[in-house]
Amino acid sequence: MSKCSVCHSKAVSKVITYTQWYKGKLIAVENVPAEVCPTCGEEYFSPDVANKVQKVIESHNISKMLEIPVYQLA
Ligand SMILES: [Zn+2]
Repeated sequence: MSKCSVCHSKAVSKVITYTQWYKGKLIAVENVPAEVCPTCGEEYFSPDVANKVQKVIESHNISKMLEIPVYQLA
């Protein structure tokens, strides 16, 4: 089990929905295995998983579209 490099808590293995801005759009990848820090929420991926995530994003093989609420801090 790895430690969080931000706050040094023990990260726990989880399956998460990974989100990222990609070419000006917010995209999500479901069912991504990651180590997540329970204290600060930092997410860690193995190089293999990070690679697969990038490949699936670049494949444009979209499984569904979501609408997300957007707020303004004015
Ligand atoms: Zn942390």
